[in-house]
Amino acid sequence: MTEPTDLRDQITQAQLVVVKVGTRLITRGPGQLNQDFLASLVGQIKRLSQDGRQLLVITSGAIHLGSASLSRRGDEDGLSVRQAAAAVGQPALMQHYITALAAEGLVGAQILLTTEDMQQRSRYLHVRNTLQVLLAQGVVPIINENDTVSVEGVTFGENDRLAAVVTAALRADLLVFLSDQPGLFTADPRQDAAAEFIPVVMPGDQISHYADGTGGAESRGGMEKKLEAAQMVVDCGIPLVIADGEQEDVLIQILAGIEVGTLFVARGAPPSRKLWLATALEPSGSLMIDEGACQALRDRDGSSLLPVGIVEVQGDFQAGDLVQVVDPRGEEVARGLVNYSSEQVAAIQGHHSDEIERILGHVGDDEVIHRDNLIVTGHGE
Ligand code: GLU
Repeated sequence: MTEPTDLRDQITQAQLVVVKVGTRLITRGPGQLNQDFLASLVGQIKRLSQDGRQLLVITSGAIHLGSASLSRRGDEDGLSVRQAAAAVGQPALMQHYITALAAEGLVGAQILLTTEDMQQRSRYLHVRNTLQVLLAQGVVPIINENDTVSVEGVTFGENDRLAAVVTAALRADLLVFLSDQPGLFTADPRQDAAAEFIPVVMPGDQISHYADGTGGAESRGGMEKKLEAAQMVVDCGIPLVIADGEQEDVLIQILAGIEVGTLFVARGAPPSRKLWLATALEPSGSLMIDEGACQALRDRDGSSLLPVGIVEVQGDFQAGDLVQVVDPRGEEVARGLVNYSSEQVAAIQGHHSDEIERILGHVGDDEVIHRDNLIVTGHGE
């Protein structure tokens, strides 16, 4: 794979940059902060902010930091023990950040988020506005999941997805995942000596099979979650870099256009409301569509999904819910807010829109998903 340098040139223009820091970077072990890394991170934030860039940090590490202060009960992986560890670790984590930022003359702010905060559009907009005010004032927002109040099953679970959602919400110019790995490889380099480094991923490159390996016991992400988050971000028209956080001046180098880490090149940017569709909500079901309908969605930017192209409905959803649109192989093609419930879609699937009134017994929208509420995502062009 070649690395076209003009792709890197684009990221040198990035003004608003989201940096996600993994547990394995910010801690050295249970209860221990990696002071060298934090000092280096904050020093780079300072230099980049002097160049007129705005930076925002999504940080993990609260649970691992807090876990050392709790006595082991044999169920330390249980949710409530993790939540208790986060309650101990989060203030300690923030204290380290605030102190390190203050040493550089910077002010930090803590924002703790749950999935619900990002799924309700009104709350989402408040979060976005608050972050915008902080950034405009030169404050560095330090974000983590609000682990202590997150309900199992609806947690972000790992901060890779949280970082993607925040990046899309702010329409940031770049997301950087700082990891303990130099980027994406064809296999897990810790286990496979033949693993090859991938410098650039273009939209549509098939890479999910490279996602071997978890992040390790203390972190919850791993490469698979990073690739899912990367897909979301590039679908929103925002590039992403995965790089080794321990590499000297890694952020400075990325923003200077130097070839560090793996660059995920963005697709064309959708309008802002669609960013929310692509990232914040969990789909309640899926609609399988035929090849013709897939082509129409992919080729004609801005086409709506009509009942005639739908071949199968899965899940139980109401009008207004987010659903995935998948091709005949089950690969995601798009996401959108449906105009009909799952039962209604099942009744009208395969029919022309002028038959909707006869089938449902009332007048309805011609489209199952209107183009304004639909975002083309997924692999393949
Ligand atoms: N929110 C968790 C923490 O701060 C981290 C989740 C993750 O590993 O991504 O400990």
